[in-house]
Amino acid sequence: MILFKKAADLQDHIAKQRAKGISVGFAPTMGALHAGHISLIETVKEHDGLTVCSIFVNPTQFNDPKDFEKYPVTIENDINMLEKAGCDILFIPTVAEMYPGGLVSPQHYELGYLETILEGKFRPSHFQGVCQVVHRLLDIVQPDNLYLGQKDYQQCMVLTKLVELLGKNIKVIICPTLRENDGLAMSSRNMRLNEQERLQAVNISQVLFTLKKDIKPGDLGYLKDNATEYLTKHGFKVDYVEIADAKTLAPQQHWDGTAKLVALVAAFLNEVRLIDNMLMN
Ligand code: AMP
Repeated sequence: MILFKKAADLQDHIAKQRAKGISVGFAPTMGALHAGHISLIETVKEHDGLTVCSIFVNPTQFNDPKDFEKYPVTIENDINMLEKAGCDILFIPTVAEMYPGGLVSPQHYELGYLETILEGKFRPSHFQGVCQVVHRLLDIVQPDNLYLGQKDYQQCMVLTKLVELLGKNIKVIICPTLRENDGLAMSSRNMRLNEQERLQAVNISQVLFTLKKDIKPGDLGYLKDNATEYLTKHGFKVDYVEIADAKTLAPQQHWDGTAKLVALVAAFLNEVRLIDNMLMN
C-alpha cells in the first residue's frame, strides 16, 4: 500500500493508473477502522482495479467540538488493517492540505429538505461539512466509484445528491452495515463506550429488529413511541426514532403495506452519540 499525504502526489499517481485503463474505487473514512470499513475496501477490490482509501477526521462536519476532540485515532492499527485487506492507496492529508483556503467552505450545497430532518435537524451544519470534505476528496481522487456504508443512511442520500449537484460521473455504491455478534452496528464511536455502556448499546439494534418484526400496515406512531420509551428506559437520551420512506427519507405516520420503509435511530449513551438504521421490508 502506498501512503500519500499530498493531494498533488496522489493525483499524479492516480492519473498514471487511470491512463492504463484501471478503474478507481474510493472509500473515504475518518479512521479508527473496524471490520465495517474493511468490508467497504473488500467491495472496492471486487469492482475496481485501484482501491483508494482516505483517513481524515474532518473538523468541519463536527457540530460538537467535544465530539471532534474525542474522536478516536488509531492510525497504526488502521494502516495494518488496510495493508492486510489489500488496499492499494491510503491518503492521509493534514487539515492544511485539505483546506488550503481555510476551514470556511466557499460553497453552500443545496441539499434541500434532506438537511432539515433527522441528522440534519439534530446536527446543524453537519451535512454541509460532509459535502465540503467529500467534494474536495472527489476533486482530488476523481474516482469511478464511490463506496459508502448504509450505516450512515442519510449521508448516503446526501452524498448521492452531492455527486448529482456537482455533475460528476461517479457511481455511488452503498454497502451493507456490518454488525457485532450481538447486533450492535460497528462504529468507531463504539470504542468510546465503557463496559456498561457497551452492554446497553445493543438495545439500539434490538429496537430496530423489533420494529422490523412488529411493523404492519396502518399507524406507525405507537411503534415509534414504544421504541423511544424502551430506549429511554435503558438509559439512552433519544434524539429520534423515525420510520421514513426508504427512497425519500420523508417521515411516515402511516404505512400502506407496500411502500419501502427504513427505521432510523439516533441516541446518546452519556457522552457518546450512536446511530443505526434498518430497512423494514
Ligand atoms: P466513518 O469513518 O465513520 O466516516 O465511515 C466511513 C465509511 O464507512 C462510511 O461510508 C460509513 O458509512 C462506513 N461505515 C461505518 N460503519 C460501518 C459499518 N458498521 N458497516 C459498513 N460500513 C460502515
